[in-house]
Amino acid sequence: MYFKSANVTGLKFEPWSAESIINTSVVEIKNSKLYDNQKPAKGGLRDPMLGITSRRGHCECCQQNWFKCPGHFGHLHLATPMYHAGWVQHVTKILKAHCLHCYTPHKQKKKKCDACLQEHKLVQKHDVWFIQINKKPLLPCEALKLLEKIQLNNTAAHAILTVLPIPPNCVRPSPTMGGDEIRGEDDLTRTLLRIVRMNNTVKKHLVSQTPQKITNILKKLQEVINVYIYRARNSSSRSKINSKTTCIGDRLRHKTGRLRGTLMGKRCNFTARGVVGPDSRMGMHEVGIPQYVADTLTITENIHKFNIDKWQDDINKKSNAIKFIVRADGKRLDLRYNKPQLQIGWKVERKLQNGDIGLFNRQPSLHKMSIMAHYVKILPGKTFRLNLSCTTPYNADCKYPFLSPFLIIRVYKQTSKR
Ligand SMILES: [Zn+2]
Ligand SMILES: [Zn+2]
Repeated sequence: MYFKSANVTGLKFEPWSAESIINTSVVEIKNSKLYDNQKPAKGGLRDPMLGITSRRGHCECCQQNWFKCPGHFGHLHLATPMYHAGWVQHVTKILKAHCLHCYTPHKQKKKKCDACLQEHKLVQKHDVWFIQINKKPLLPCEALKLLEKIQLNNTAAHAILTVLPIPPNCVRPSPTMGGDEIRGEDDLTRTLLRIVRMNNTVKKHLVSQTPQKITNILKKLQEVINVYIYRARNSSSRSKINSKTTCIGDRLRHKTGRLRGTLMGKRCNFTARGVVGPDSRMGMHEVGIPQYVADTLTITENIHKFNIDKWQDDINKKSNAIKFIVRADGKRLDLRYNKPQLQIGWKVERKLQNGDIGLFNRQPSLHKMSIMAHYVKILPGKTFRLNLSCTTPYNADCKYPFLSPFLIIRVYKQTSKR
């Protein structure tokens, strides 16, 4: 695949629009059954189009095997618009900032609207329906109409759910044993199943009734959707429904969630971590690196006409300073088994040396002095060493000198740092 290069000037987050959910979706979920004759039901929450579930066979949607199929989204048409617990504050803000008679934004906080001279309506919080206007709960279908009239931008109305994206099968796998599926279901699948069932009930009622007349049934659907998306937001649903069911919010938040647990991983290439200790003989600009760390970490240097002779000398003398050679065609040569003739344009991957510059970091990195550049000094022993005066910005305490782990040294391209 070929991508044209472009300059990124910013990132903008906005609610996922119904149109784009439907475009991404591969199947519409209507069936409230999971299985039909021992097989995943068509149009159900385990529809095979949503991605492959076992290690055997191929995905019905993309024809790839278990390792390659990324999973595919489906969608569920909601019988009536519903609030998305994560976007309610956004909706409230927009409603508060506009006159709800003539739909123009207010410029100043006044009792009356400048444009239509009518008194502003009072927008407040509501326990079940999140928002109330003049002490009357605002149903999501009414909120959607208001937002469409306000027409702040096209995205404001997307903050209210009309179509619910159904996550791929691999996001909510059935617990398996020995490769064969067992009919247990993930929490998300169970909550989604309740949404599908409630939605079908609401659909039946809405044939003959208006949403305002069946608020009790709508309330239940809203509660299940809250439990699915962001349980903690709605206090009334917290007590009724088993508090152990995980919601999408739980998967993302907290220490073990996707963001802190998976994305902000602490390990990466060209780093080492270990215990730090004090050393009064170190300069403040230096960091002591144990020999075995210096032998493992490498720095890549380009070969040009000014250094080619020096590196060739090192190879001929077998000085062990270089670990690998990267040729112009990208092939790596291990110097333990090769003795190549260097050429300009190749690269050497050499071990750390005294005088290199490395970045030294101790977590938690609370301010910019938690990561600083130091000259490398290779020392015997197994710990990193610092001058005592340098311990304050890192908050590395020397009362218990060998109890401060979480140290990372990162070596960047040397020329750019100097
Ligand atoms: Zn697939
Ligand atoms: Zn007005």
